[in-house]
Amino acid sequence: MSRGDLDALSEERIRYTVRYAEEHSNFYRHWFASHGIAARDIRTHEDLLELPILSGQTIRAHQPPVSPEFGFLSAPLEEIFTIHETSGTTGVPKAFFLTWDDWSRYAEKYARTFASQGLGHGDRLVVCTSYGMNVGGNTMTVAAHRLHMTIIPAGKCTFPLRVITSYRPTAIVGSVFKLLRLADRLEAEGIDPRKSGLRRLIVGGESFAEEARTYLAERYDCPVYNTYGSTEGTMCGECQVQDGLHVPEDLVHLDLYDPGLQAFVPDGQPGRIVLSHLLPVGERSGMVLLNYDSEDTTAIVSRDTCACGRTHLRIRPPGRETDGVAIGEARLERIEIERGVFSPENMTELNGEYEAFLYGEGDRGAVLRIGLECRRAPACDREGIGERILGTLLAHNRPLAAAHAGGEFRVIFSFTNPGGLELHAVKGRPKRLVDRR
Ligand SMILES: [Zn+2]
Repeated sequence: MSRGDLDALSEERIRYTVRYAEEHSNFYRHWFASHGIAARDIRTHEDLLELPILSGQTIRAHQPPVSPEFGFLSAPLEEIFTIHETSGTTGVPKAFFLTWDDWSRYAEKYARTFASQGLGHGDRLVVCTSYGMNVGGNTMTVAAHRLHMTIIPAGKCTFPLRVITSYRPTAIVGSVFKLLRLADRLEAEGIDPRKSGLRRLIVGGESFAEEARTYLAERYDCPVYNTYGSTEGTMCGECQVQDGLHVPEDLVHLDLYDPGLQAFVPDGQPGRIVLSHLLPVGERSGMVLLNYDSEDTTAIVSRDTCACGRTHLRIRPPGRETDGVAIGEARLERIEIERGVFSPENMTELNGEYEAFLYGEGDRGAVLRIGLECRRAPACDREGIGERILGTLLAHNRPLAAAHAGGEFRVIFSFTNPGGLELHAVKGRPKRLVDRR
């Protein structure tokens, strides 16, 4: 679809979705009324600026136990096909209700991403994503049906290696670190990941350094495609051109806001992802989100047609706002540490696992302890590894380099055997940069 047609379609769906939300959900009915908004006045994407911004907190405040009802539920319960929960690291998980129409749209988004990555009929895809209360694994499975692909629903990356040797999958969906561990397991059993028959890796779940992707691609000798998906309904993915993640603009509207969530940011600049579902006219939804603050940040790469031929706009890999720490005037992102860890020289000795803890020191100083796993500890070049990571950190972050030069920030390193880091004892997704001040 041309850019003009796509924008027109998107606005038609904004109008329908806002009306649908007002008619079908108690939350939106009260929300519009209490803010003096009439759904019919929301006609274009600029009009969305007039609507307040919702957060995960808003959803939790309108569901049990806080409220007796599920305020966001936007179809009769009998019409709901599945009920989901976000993994919610803190507090009560958010409930999500999906009708079959919602499933079709979620699957459509994943199917497009898979197709844009070159997957199709004849491919066998191992899904390491969990099949629990979140939507990921299940909707990917429905997506595969559309593409006439075979799914191996492992649900985790610790599956027995016969899954690889017996069924010869051509692709795996998983996270960078899980796929690295899988490569180690394969090699320990004498199987070369490059000769395992895998032709594509699809990663998502959390942001990662490009250096980590490059290393993973080398280990398997195949392309690694990035995806960004969530229960809230954003399913964006890189195509084979790998120049940003395509946003399915006809099904989800994405705005980027400034940090104060007051205005849109210009294309190219980083902003907070605020998303709105887009329902095709006549379709139904169990839970509509309008102006939902994802708490993730990204930037628009381009709205021009991609080299792959797709017109859907492209964004940079999204990152979490909570993934960084402030050190005086400086800010340190987890990814900046990862970048140094995965420098090619380091990876001859490290397995890529890392964790970092920030402690206070003196009045205003801070010390960062980075823990690393050496393949053949204690015989590793600790000094060289430390120098390279610190060098990478300071070379790309001037305020941090200033703090380091001024004695307000220092870095120490600790090394263990594989499996020796604290994060292995934590259930769920580990937090690799922890502020202990
Ligand atoms: Zn493309």
